[in-house]
Amino acid sequence: MEHTEVSVSLKGLNKSFTEGERTRDVLVDLSADFEAGKFHVILGRSGSGKSTLLNLISGIDMPDSGTVQVAGTMLNEISERERTLLRRKSIGFIFQFFNLIPSLTVEENVMLPLELLKVENRLDRVRQVLDEVEMGDRMSSYPDALSGGEQQRIAIARAVVHEPELILADEPTGNLDDTTAEQVLKILTGITHQRTVLLVTHSQEAAHKADCKWILRSGKFEPGVN
Ligand code: ADP
Ligand code: MG
Repeated sequence: MEHTEVSVSLKGLNKSFTEGERTRDVLVDLSADFEAGKFHVILGRSGSGKSTLLNLISGIDMPDSGTVQVAGTMLNEISERERTLLRRKSIGFIFQFFNLIPSLTVEENVMLPLELLKVENRLDRVRQVLDEVEMGDRMSSYPDALSGGEQQRIAIARAVVHEPELILADEPTGNLDDTTAEQVLKILTGITHQRTVLLVTHSQEAAHKADCKWILRSGKFEPGVN
């Protein structure tokens, strides 16, 4: 029998938010196995719980019930400190608004994950990954001197520089024009080839790049889509 490796396994996840009198059930008995090495695109409307889901997968937030397993580790069975370390080592993040540190240069932004992990030969690796996103000539620029597409390419470099097992992307093209979005997606799929990527978005534009497509609706995944 063929063995398919699972990178992220979600079982019976429930997550609600209460504000005042009102409780919103955002994720409802959601289960899924995300196969390793694939580019997963999760489609869902604004407010459907995409960011909430990524926060549970990265252990930034915890579910009300149910379990999250990432790269073989059950997040509910380890401490908050261990979850922070796992996130640092095993996950790379890409956000809609890039989230680069404005007071640091491109080189310093991309080096940060390696510094936290005390990796050796950091500069060589930073140079290599910046070349891969075609930004090798902008090492000493500051983020605000770069276009949106360029900033997102730096953010992609930062997300993969430490070779994490899992890359989480939250609407990574949501703030870019169509042509730039297409270019950024091409770089992202190229650099993450054979890695596990979970990309959430409300727009269809990334869906045609997906190895596996998921639709988040009413708190769970629609069956039979992927
Ligand atoms: P999406 O990323 O798909 O747009 P979110 O996961 O951000 O959706 O939010 C899903 C729902 O949960 C929304 O109704 C949002 O208002 C609510 N929500 C998310 N985070 C919180 C929070 N920390 N407190 C209260 N409500 C929240
Ligand atoms: Mg969101």
